[in-house]
Amino acid sequence: MNSYQLRNLPSVERVVSGQPLAGAVESYGRERVVELTREVLANIRRQVLAGAGAPSADEITRAVLGLIAGLAAPSPHPVINATGVIIHTNLGRAPLSQAALAAADAVGRGYSDLEIDLDTGRRGSRQAHLQSLLQRITGAEAALVVNNNAAALLLGLSALAAGREVIVTRGEAVEIGGGFRIPDVLRQSGCTLVDVGTTNRTYVRDYADAVTENTGAFLKAHASNFRVAGFTAAVAERDLVELGARTGIPVLHDLGSGALLPTERYGLAHEPTPQESIAAGVGLAFFSGDKLLGGPQAGIIVGQRELVTRLERHPLARAVRIDKMSLASLTATLTHYLTGQAEAAIPVWRMIAADPLAVRARADAWSKAIAAASGAETAVVPARSAIGGGSLPGETLPSWALSISPNGSGGTPESLLSALRNQPTPVIGRIEEDTVRLDPRTVLPEQDDAMKQAILAALGAQSGA
Ligand SMILES: *Cc1c(COP(=O)(O)O)cnc(C)c1O
Repeated sequence: MNSYQLRNLPSVERVVSGQPLAGAVESYGRERVVELTREVLANIRRQVLAGAGAPSADEITRAVLGLIAGLAAPSPHPVINATGVIIHTNLGRAPLSQAALAAADAVGRGYSDLEIDLDTGRRGSRQAHLQSLLQRITGAEAALVVNNNAAALLLGLSALAAGREVIVTRGEAVEIGGGFRIPDVLRQSGCTLVDVGTTNRTYVRDYADAVTENTGAFLKAHASNFRVAGFTAAVAERDLVELGARTGIPVLHDLGSGALLPTERYGLAHEPTPQESIAAGVGLAFFSGDKLLGGPQAGIIVGQRELVTRLERHPLARAVRIDKMSLASLTATLTHYLTGQAEAAIPVWRMIAADPLAVRARADAWSKAIAAASGAETAVVPARSAIGGGSLPGETLPSWALSISPNGSGGTPESLLSALRNQPTPVIGRIEEDTVRLDPRTVLPEQDDAMKQAILAALGAQSGA
């Protein structure tokens, strides 16, 4: 039976010369289409051998066209984030402001004065403009921007403490996510980790007792994705800075997210700011561009000029340097802080600042439209939006969500969630209490129509319509 089906599969030649693939042959060339058709047929042969029925000629052609469309689509694809998690690492972290997008577009489109001084015509530094912005915003003497915060730490530790000991409290020798661990970064930078104190309590004397003539740095890392509660004691930055000054050892502070606006203004716990680290006198502070800062992927280093200069001169600086489009959009993002427009212009802060009543009104509008068009069982329910991205662990904002019960449509919450993910503009939601929950807080206003369409199409797919 199977060998009969196998023999009856069309040849590569027959599929490729069919009328439906003529356009593809024209655009991509015959060779590429032959190669893709071979792949599709080989796959079908395996499935038939495993007992599946043979597809029709039309289905085979559609599979080839599907493969071509998938390959030709720009990737990553835009999705709608309805999870309520504002900085979602798997969904690309911070959406950019209009100005940040325009800036990247402008320098990507043509040439720029990336490394030329227009006054003299001589070579300039790609960091110059960012440096002056960061100095004004954080109060630091100097600044350097690299590819991401992980790279910033690797550079900082390599340049200042390779071959030497770095003192870290046990409570901060943490894994940040994606397997990125402080002890591993230290090892990779050629440093020896000296851990002091205990997981929950560390005093400044613990650091002082561990100092040797071979100590290269004190490293403080913000525990950005978990919280230690109860019987705890952490060393204040100022105390560590004082010890650093006495011993001539630089204090390096990995802030993780590094909020440039005070999070407590929005009813959240206080997230450490680079401004505070600089005011406390740390040697260098490190933070990400695409977490609470709300810009592109980048690693930002601010601090004492003498230390920043050592980083700039290290060979790794070139290996981890920032590209021109990220540089342009980061500059535009930082300008929003300089001009007091951050909350209005940067999507991350707009989402954090969104009035729960406005969020509720959007959920209400979605609910009415979906119920009217599909007859689905919808409701608007209280929800909590999370900050995410390793910022403010456990901290949430009161919000509202659209709740869709798949009961009427013959599906399950899981199948509806999956159908939502498989729409032309995928929608990412979550399941709570056996219903699909979609939080408008993280859905950009211009996505409202696409969102409703995707929900209706997903509900239709559920009921087989
Ligand atoms: C997120 C984070 C990092 C890594 O930053 P990337 O910009 O993702 O490389 C490092 N340290 C801490 C504490 C973090 O939260």
